[in-house]
Amino acid sequence: MALDKYIRIVPDFPKEGIVFKDITPLLLDPEGRKECLTMLLSSLHSKKIDKVIGVESRGFFFGMLLAEALQVGFIPVRKPKKLPFTTISASYDLEYGTDALEIHTDAIQKGDRVLIHDDVLATGGTAKAVCELVEQLGGEIVQLNFLMEIPFLKGRDKIKNYEIFAAMQ
Ligand code: AMP
Repeated sequence: MALDKYIRIVPDFPKEGIVFKDITPLLLDPEGRKECLTMLLSSLHSKKIDKVIGVESRGFFFGMLLAEALQVGFIPVRKPKKLPFTTISASYDLEYGTDALEIHTDAIQKGDRVLIHDDVLATGGTAKAVCELVEQLGGEIVQLNFLMEIPFLKGRDKIKNYEIFAAMQ
């Protein structure tokens, strides 16, 4: 399935040397969205999921579609000072800069089976920080899934203890 036709490659964005994977053409195309969502769902092999996390901001789109399809709760993991209630935080390095991510402390109950979704797996720093947040709150990570993985950045190495699925490479 040639899903990569829905991804626009933008060189030198947001800064020189970064090859940005733009998912907005995929968002525009209902057929492409459906294909992607079907792939992500079938990769779960009907495993039980209690909550889906979407990572700010491009993880929100398919994160919410996954939560809706699975009929479970959706949790936004956000950049610092965006979430209004009590939060915990984890810092991380990303392909361009460093940052931190936060989650509401009441989003996950002990033993919740959690699916983590983001658009792109690059160096894996973001995904690792989200795993730390989930585990701090007592959640169990069932899978991390991505629309696209950039294999040469070896993001999988940082999250190798978890099941990982990417719809495109
Ligand atoms: P990383 O922590 O290096 O795995 O980076 C993953 C996060 O940064 C994801 O939330 C992506 O949205 C974003 N990101 C990193 N590199 C790219 C890229 N080349 N194109 C689009 N998004 C990217």
